[in-house]
Amino acid sequence: MGLIPRLPRFVFACFKSVERAADRLTGAVGPVFVALAWFLISVGIVYFFDVVAPKLSWPLLQLPVCILCAANMLGHYYLACTVRPGTPDDMKGTGEETGWMWARRRKHSPDLGVAWNDSRSRVGDWGTTMERGKIGRCKRCFKQKPERAHHCKVCKTCILKFDHHCPVSIAVGLRNERHFVLFMAWFVISCSCFVMLGYEYLWPAIAYQSDDWHSRLPPTGYVLIYILALALGFAVSVMLFWHLYLVSSAESTVENYDFARYREVAKARGTEFVNSYDLGRMKNLMLFFNLGPSGYSLYTLLLPLRCAPLSDGISWPRRPGYPKHHGIGEGDEMTDVEDDEAGDGE
Ligand SMILES: [Zn+2]
Ligand SMILES: [Zn+2]
Repeated sequence: MGLIPRLPRFVFACFKSVERAADRLTGAVGPVFVALAWFLISVGIVYFFDVVAPKLSWPLLQLPVCILCAANMLGHYYLACTVRPGTPDDMKGTGEETGWMWARRRKHSPDLGVAWNDSRSRVGDWGTTMERGKIGRCKRCFKQKPERAHHCKVCKTCILKFDHHCPVSIAVGLRNERHFVLFMAWFVISCSCFVMLGYEYLWPAIAYQSDDWHSRLPPTGYVLIYILALALGFAVSVMLFWHLYLVSSAESTVENYDFARYREVAKARGTEFVNSYDLGRMKNLMLFFNLGPSGYSLYTLLLPLRCAPLSDGISWPRRPGYPKHHGIGEGDEMTDVEDDEAGDGE
């Protein structure tokens, strides 16, 4: 074979090895990023409560809100990093929802909530049908792979309702995605509070005159943390709105790529792709946060508490009349191994 026909394969193999190196790097430096994030968040909180909080105009009103923001930001980051997203080995879940970190359900009935793991379809909140999805087998880790699960190359296992592997956390999936989204939301609110309330101390910190600077903490640190809060608050707000858009569309990050392709395939055939998980924006959001009659109350969004997801990772709420997606056939479905045509033998 000449050089020219081999070239695309060679370029593809190069891309794959770069991608694999990036996955290994993400896994290796993950703990360093997590430690750095904890450090920066803690420093930001210390600066806020030392520099800004003592001089608030309405402390009785503002201080409780600021404490709530800090508690939620820390709590949800802790939960996003420590609650396992779930793998095919623990499809039944932990089973326990006791302990001080768990929020109380509105109603705990064996027929409702997380226990959907039988083959019948059931009626969930607001008349939603929960339909058991297909269970395949992963060609990388050889484990059972339920619908919406994907193989995480960094964790080297399948993750239930896999979204992505977060470089400053762990894999985001079924059981920790709620905390991941709520962390982003509280992070953005906290950064906004810092930027707006701490603005007037920025100049005294830059000019550093001991008469104007009222804290014992170094003013240079304040300037750096202020700039980080501004930049990261903006960056995370973009991610947050993108994620809320995905949640309200009943798509994960992985599914967003797949569904875009399904839409093209279906359109080329003169039909339309219908996402069977999509029950309308509001319901999708409520189901994601498990705020239905058998789930949790709205106040759980305001507290750093653990909540179980609606699904067990096997059965999913479906649009009435759509037990599966419309517009694509069996052979059109995307799988994780699709990008392995070069045969990298993983
Ligand atoms: Zn796998
Ligand atoms: Zn992972």
